[in-house]
Amino acid sequence: MSNVDTPVVIIGAGPAGLTAARVLTELDIDYVLLSREKVPGENKACAGFIPFSALRDFNISTLPGAHPVTTVRMKFPKQDMKTVEFGAKVGVNVSRADLGMTMLKYVGAGSAEIRLQTEVGRVSIKQSGCEITLHKQGQSEKLTSEIVIDASGVNPVSLKMIRLRERLPDHLMGYTAQYQMRRPSSMGSLNGANDFYYGGDFSPSGYAWVFPRGHDIAVGTGGLLRSFKEEKKRMFDYLDYLISHDDSARLTLENAEVVKRESALVPLAGIVQPSFTDRLMLAGDAAGHCCPITGEGIHYSMIAGKKAAQTAAKAVRKRDYSAGVLSKYEKDWIKAIGSNLKWGLWLQQRMVGSGSGGLGSSLMGSDRSCKIIAEMLVGARSVRATLLAAAPTYMAKKLRH
Ligand SMILES: Cc1cc2nc3c(=O)[nH]c(=O)nc-3n(C[C@H](O)[C@H](O)[C@H](O)COP(=O)(O)OP(=O)(O)OC[C@H]3O[C@@H](n4cnc5c(N)ncnc54)[C@H](O)[C@@H]3O)c2cc1C
Repeated sequence: MSNVDTPVVIIGAGPAGLTAARVLTELDIDYVLLSREKVPGENKACAGFIPFSALRDFNISTLPGAHPVTTVRMKFPKQDMKTVEFGAKVGVNVSRADLGMTMLKYVGAGSAEIRLQTEVGRVSIKQSGCEITLHKQGQSEKLTSEIVIDASGVNPVSLKMIRLRERLPDHLMGYTAQYQMRRPSSMGSLNGANDFYYGGDFSPSGYAWVFPRGHDIAVGTGGLLRSFKEEKKRMFDYLDYLISHDDSARLTLENAEVVKRESALVPLAGIVQPSFTDRLMLAGDAAGHCCPITGEGIHYSMIAGKKAAQTAAKAVRKRDYSAGVLSKYEKDWIKAIGSNLKWGLWLQQRMVGSGSGGLGSSLMGSDRSCKIIAEMLVGARSVRATLLAAAPTYMAKKLRH
């Protein structure tokens, strides 16, 4: 091995970076994890819904601060609220700081190092290795590694220096606004329900959500960045309208106060390639690993982080960090999550602008299709299976081909 400080540098302590670190720990490969925040996730704008399958796949049995979700309620334009009760826990709502602290417990054994409150400024990839410039408390330092896993989120830091791909265009990038709210009293039976609001009153082209976790509630809206720019309406105006005009939202948010306002980008781009080059892999939002129709990215990022770590471990053992070896990573994540990314984009492009008409209304017509859509929203049904089950027959024929 050449003379580097560590075999692998991971940038970012979100679900992608922390899972990559956990898997490298399990595979006994040393690494340094660098991340900006003091508590992983504390500054991340997120509604915090995690599907049951993610907890099961990653063996997360205890998640402090997690609130079970058993019900989905959906409001489509000109229709009453539809309620789908699953009768069992389909996932949890959790604060991102609680998730971050839980995931942190699985990492950092042996000579692995976790450096929080550390900002990565530059990443340079040379034939001889990687050089990462980092800043902590006014001090700068350089770190060298064989491989970098960049899991630094939607605008990955390494792409500022390395022209692996272009920045995502506005029609493939989501824009969100969210209030973190707090109610003085508990929400009783409403506490297990995640609410989704569709239609132009609540979002420029996506949906608004109300996800409670005890006294705390994430109330947000999202849509494509392009639609948002075209509408020229403030994202928070959609939220204020939801809170003040919709009866269900008014009831849920009675006496609730806004404790935090946040807005953030989210990739809604389908399969984005390439996600690797010599010595570098992008994982999670950095690689577009977020479902374009549901906006779900936590589980996807965990899967991508795992695949990146497995490929990194192979490369370290072979001492071959070339794109040829790292290409396995892209094959692996496409196999695992590519279908949902691809069909999620397909569906999103047919829903945007169709409002209550077109494919949107045919998908959401009956109680049966509402249940199917609800299963997709909680990550219990793939996008393709959703389309096959809920789309009209002619659509199903197209898809089968
Ligand atoms: C408003 C909103 C609501 C959402 N709700 C949900 C939801 O309910 N369920 C769901 O599954 N998904 C949701 N998502 C999507 C989900 O949040 C993301 O897909 C997921 O967080 C991506 O994980 P990640 O690890 O790739 O990146 P991130 O979680 O963004 O983590 C990136 C990490 O990199 C660090 N970092 C960034 N730049 C640097 C740097 N230069 N130096 C050092 N560290 C750096 C950050 O501090 C952070 O720790 C939501 C997104 C938004 C915007």
